[in-house]
Amino acid sequence: MSIPASQPLPPSADSALAPAAGTVTDRLVEANKQYAAAFTDPGMDARPVLKVAVVACMDARLDLHDALGLSLGDCHTIRNAGGVVTDDIIRSLTISQRALGTRSVVLIHHTGCGLLNLTEEFRHELAAEVGQRPNWAVEAFKDLDEDVRQSIERVRTSPFLLHTDDVRGFVFDVTTGLLREVDPK
Ligand SMILES: [Zn+2]
Repeated sequence: MSIPASQPLPPSADSALAPAAGTVTDRLVEANKQYAAAFTDPGMDARPVLKVAVVACMDARLDLHDALGLSLGDCHTIRNAGGVVTDDIIRSLTISQRALGTRSVVLIHHTGCGLLNLTEEFRHELAAEVGQRPNWAVEAFKDLDEDVRQSIERVRTSPFLLHTDDVRGFVFDVTTGLLREVDPK
């Protein structure tokens, strides 16, 4: 279920989880109280146990931990619109590898991605509407596999990363839950 961020939630019978007249953020804060009540400090440090960073789209249908069998503390998850390797993803990967010890990179795009329907025209229209040109590219794409290859290449050729020998890219199918690996060549 998706919940518009700007609208109050309808009253819920499950009053333990949702206040009668709260925003979606109120609902999250309530859920956190329950999470914290059952939480025990696992005593980990910040270095991911599996030494892996997963770069993925922010899509709400992609539950990385469940889909990849990951547990708390296993990996870094770095997400943005499209799972595109932008300068800021490289920033995070650089910190992930150089300061926090990860070695492997997994890139995940997915079927039905919102970026498949956009073009750079989005950016031009936005600039015309608000009177300010964004200093970022939309990074829209038409071909999922080709964009995964582009992302693999950006990671592999980054001068900032220590480890670029284990970089693999996948497309997650939101209807089957299956990953399909993309041949980098
Ligand atoms: Zn997406």
